[in-house]
Amino acid sequence: MSPGRTQVAIVGAGPAGLLLSHLLHLARIESVVLESRSRDEVQRTVRAGVLEQGTVDMLRDTGVGARLDREALFHRGVYLRFGGRTHHIDMEGLTGGKRVTLYAQQEVVKDLIAARLEAGGEIRFGVSDVVIHDVLSDRPGVSFRQGADAQRIECDFVAGCDGSHGMSRHSLPEGALARHERMYPFGWFGILVEAPPSSDELIYARHDRGFALVSTRSRMLQRMYFQCDPAQKTEAWSDDRIWAELRSRLETPDGWTPVEGPITQKVVVGMRSLVFEPMQHGNLFLAGDAAHVVPPTGAKGLNLAAADVRVLSRALQRFYQSRSRDALEGYSATCLTRVWNAQRFSYWMTMLLHRADSDTSFDRNRQLAELEYLVHSRAAMTSLAENYVGLPFED
Ligand SMILES: Cc1cc2nc3c(=O)[nH]c(=O)nc-3n(C[C@H](O)[C@H](O)[C@H](O)COP(=O)(O)OP(=O)(O)OC[C@H]3O[C@@H](n4cnc5c(N)ncnc54)[C@H](O)[C@@H]3O)c2cc1C
Repeated sequence: MSPGRTQVAIVGAGPAGLLLSHLLHLARIESVVLESRSRDEVQRTVRAGVLEQGTVDMLRDTGVGARLDREALFHRGVYLRFGGRTHHIDMEGLTGGKRVTLYAQQEVVKDLIAARLEAGGEIRFGVSDVVIHDVLSDRPGVSFRQGADAQRIECDFVAGCDGSHGMSRHSLPEGALARHERMYPFGWFGILVEAPPSSDELIYARHDRGFALVSTRSRMLQRMYFQCDPAQKTEAWSDDRIWAELRSRLETPDGWTPVEGPITQKVVVGMRSLVFEPMQHGNLFLAGDAAHVVPPTGAKGLNLAAADVRVLSRALQRFYQSRSRDALEGYSATCLTRVWNAQRFSYWMTMLLHRADSDTSFDRNRQLAELEYLVHSRAAMTSLAENYVGLPFED
């Protein structure tokens, strides 16, 4: 067992863990990041793509926004399509200049890894058997294996940034966390397509066959989704069947169809809303998907992870400057205000655009009335816009 020491041990090198390590470094606080996958696997994980204005500003302000500024796509708003008609929501105009930024999660992750390694930061990829110890003491630790080596790192604090399937949450005693959950009776079938964008901005479509989304990741890589049964197998869907389904859900009277190209990935994503509360226990702090999961409709997951670690890095900075635990003690309550707002918005957008088998004609007509109201009321569109581009940070 070779012991090491750092100030903050971070479990997980996703957006939450990496950004936390980066922010701590800027505040001259040492950290070690422990990640179970290889660097290559982490950098190849395709997930989120829509960044809130506040997330973009944070990346820029902390020196990791240069490639984003060169390569991201910046949109004024999004389209809502239903009943064969398409309506533009001018987010930039409605929010006084905040835009929708499309920059893939794996690119954010690559930029953060590069910045940490360039600054001499320590990220241990490919570790296993991570166990968190003694979080109620002032000498917590994390033990793990790297290859054949059993190792242990002593620290002041542990940050559990290991995603929704991670272990850090499970290291808490039974009953320490309340679980608030909602499952949805549908999932998303997602594809990655090698083709130019089908639309100048994202299209969120509500159709009697179910929801569809035309999104983008870069100038030559597109992301499209359609609502499906969460138990659906990707093998059941040939490329031709996928394109037929997307065409039928997205069709307009003027004959619009998505630009087709080779499909390089097919995935089925389950949908759920989940919050663990409180997001801390002793000297262990949970951040990102380890503490909460949102359905992807509102594009909030990565953005919430960024907001959490912003709060945590500031609270840790305060502790090391003044030895005051006040901000640390308030971490969970501060984060949960934003988390519940994002849950509310993600739930609303999900119910606005998806169809459930149990829907009655009442549900269908109410949903269409809500969409009509939304696209004809400046107040309603402003509410959608300010939530989508991101509510201001708490401070
Ligand atoms: C289809 C889809 C679309 C999405 N679209 C958007 C979007 O447009 N905008 C948005 O904001 N969000 C979106 N999200 C959500 C977003 O991807 C997640 O919220 C985000 O990845 C959360 O980051 P994280 O760092 O908390 O967790 P993760 O990204 O899950 O990272 C956790 C890391 O911890 C590691 N780990 C796990 N267990 C261990 C262990 N025991 N030891 C060590 N390491 C461990 C994992 O390997 C992983 O690298 C989407 C999600 C999906 C699935």
